[in-house]
Amino acid sequence: MDLDGLKNQVGLFYEPRAVFIDIDFLDTLSKREWLNGYAEMIKHALLESVDAWSELTNATITDKAVIQQLLYRSVQFKSKIVTADASEKGLRKILNFGHTVGHALETFFLETDKPHLKHGEAVVAGMIVELFISETKLGFNPETSQKIIGFLHGFYPKLNLEKADFIRLIEIMKTDKKNRGSEYNFTLLTDIGKPVYDQSVLAPDIDTALKRYRMLE
Ligand SMILES: [Zn+2]
Repeated sequence: MDLDGLKNQVGLFYEPRAVFIDIDFLDTLSKREWLNGYAEMIKHALLESVDAWSELTNATITDKAVIQQLLYRSVQFKSKIVTADASEKGLRKILNFGHTVGHALETFFLETDKPHLKHGEAVVAGMIVELFISETKLGFNPETSQKIIGFLHGFYPKLNLEKADFIRLIEIMKTDKKNRGSEYNFTLLTDIGKPVYDQSVLAPDIDTALKRYRMLE
């Protein structure tokens, strides 16, 4: 829920008993809307395993049966995590991957005259920035991040950010309820399928990662 223009400040969640997905509904979506949702599936695959990631990246996403299989796996994965940690005290925080930076980008794009940014688009950029932080903090393999970024940019355009935007972006992250004092709470990856939550990151590390994002081709 959004409050005073800030993303995710108030949250109240109930778990569903079942999830029904009508695959034909996807036909009614614009490509941009479809990609908006697909971003979370990409995130789930990155969090789940090398196997899930290679299934997703090798899939023919124009094939409905293939999409159905990918969606099933994605929902299963999320359900497994959420069931294991219903009160969001631990494991469930891994689902925040890409979202600390992603939410800040969403808020930032709302408060400036930049074009409207969809949640999934913000999360894709957020995942890239957080992969860079994962490289610095946890030794995530840079070649692997290059491959992931190449895959992401095959679907999603890179966002236009100015160096001057970074101060405000980091300031917005400070208002996130997860972040305390001079430390920012991130979910990072040591490898594909190996997320770690409650990672303390300092502002200069975020700034460096944002600069790397800006320098991407
Ligand atoms: Zn999300």
